[in-house]
Amino acid sequence: MSQRDLFDHQAAAQEWPEWFRPSKHAPTQARNVARGLHPLGTALGDASSTCGGCLHLVKRGKFLKCARTKMSRCSASDVRAKWRACPQFLAKASRQV
Ligand code: SF4
Repeated sequence: MSQRDLFDHQAAAQEWPEWFRPSKHAPTQARNVARGLHPLGTALGDASSTCGGCLHLVKRGKFLKCARTKMSRCSASDVRAKWRACPQFLAKASRQV
C-alpha cells in the first residue's frame, strides 16, 4: 500500500469537523486536526471565527498563508479561509488606521 493509499484510507475512516477537508498534499494538517488542533498545529480558537476573517491571513500568489506562522512554498503552509481560527485570531475590522 502506497503512502497516498494509506492517507486516503485513514482520511476516509476519520470524522472531520465541517470546516476542514483533508488534502493528501498536506497530511500534517490532517494529522493536526485529528489530534484536536488547528491545521497549522496550534490550539483551536473561538469557534465562531475563521481564518478568512483574520487580519493575519495574506495572499502569496494564488495561495492563502498565515503571516503568524512560517510560510513555505509548499501546500503544508497553505491556509483555507473556512478553517476555524486559532487563538492568534485578530479580526480584520479591528485593524488600527
Ligand atoms: S493567525 Fe490563526 S486565525 Fe489568523 S490566519 Fe493565522 S491561523 Fe488563521
